Amino acid sequence: MALGSSSDVSLLSQRLLGKVALVTGGASGIGESIVHLFHKHGAKVCIADIQDDLGKRLLESLSGSPDISYIHCDVTIEDDVKHAVDFAVSQHGTLDIMVNNAGLSGPPCPDIRDFDLSLFNRTFDVNVKGVFIGMKHAARIMIPAKRGSIVSLCSVASVVGGLGPHAYTGSKHAVLGLTKSVAAELGKHGVRVNCVSPFAVATGLALAHLPEDERTEDAFSGFRKFVGTNANLQGVELTSEDVANAVLFLASDEAKYVSGANLMVDGGFTASNHSLRVFR
Ligand code: NAD
Repeated sequence: MALGSSSDVSLLSQRLLGKVALVTGGASGIGESIVHLFHKHGAKVCIADIQDDLGKRLLESLSGSPDISYIHCDVTIEDDVKHAVDFAVSQHGTLDIMVNNAGLSGPPCPDIRDFDLSLFNRTFDVNVKGVFIGMKHAARIMIPAKRGSIVSLCSVASVVGGLGPHAYTGSKHAVLGLTKSVAAELGKHGVRVNCVSPFAVATGLALAHLPEDERTEDAFSGFRKFVGTNANLQGVELTSEDVANAVLFLASDEAKYVSGANLMVDGGFTASNHSLRVFR
């Protein structure tokens, strides 16, 4: 298709024009990149997070635009999520896009025999229950509107073991299951439900197992080096902006017939054999 007029160009650069999105965990990391990208593409965005200082700083950095708002929301508390959804609707008019991004990795688990179950519950509370509550309250607005897009952050750990702690891997398999199950229910209402599964990105989550004073630039660069060496796709680093671009696609009308999908952003990692390299 040839681009004819300046309005064609603006359609490409404003892929969410007029849409309203709520991004959980939007104050930092991948969520923050999603907020920036959605704003750039013309969406009205409500940031929901528990880190109020970071959320408000992000709001200010976007020049206090009336199209961006911030609300405190712990995704494990249903009333918080209900309130955040209602707040987004009251501030911006409706809810077209729900991004269930808030998540945590939980501590490493080198020996299952020692694992503290309260930490298992915490990971499932945020990563699974939080996503389900987000789906539930987005559906409350989207079903009557007969449209909407729900995108949840999943992980390469949604399809293979050994890439993260047990609870994290179990939780991300569950997010994929919820995505398929809720997509099966909401299709008849015109609501699409998908998830995005990135490989490793150098965010706070990647070093969350370290004490705060050890999350230094050196630690991040060590993480990047380790990930780069073990990635399938060489010569390019996965960034939070790359993940945001995948979320943008699923949120936009360009993905109008995509539902129940798990979009891998892993440079082919989960499609490749990494142990029997003899077959390469
Ligand atoms: P991050 O730790 O950098 O950011 C997570 C954000 O979620 C933070 O702003 C945090 O305050 C917020 N949050 C945490 N608990 C919350 C709660 N209970 N309620 C509301 N907000 C809460 O993490 P990230 O790397 O940006 O990860 C975002 C998502 O992407 C997660 O679901 C994660 O599992 C997924 N993911 C990340 C990677 C990676 O390598 N970074 C890889 C695959 C998937």
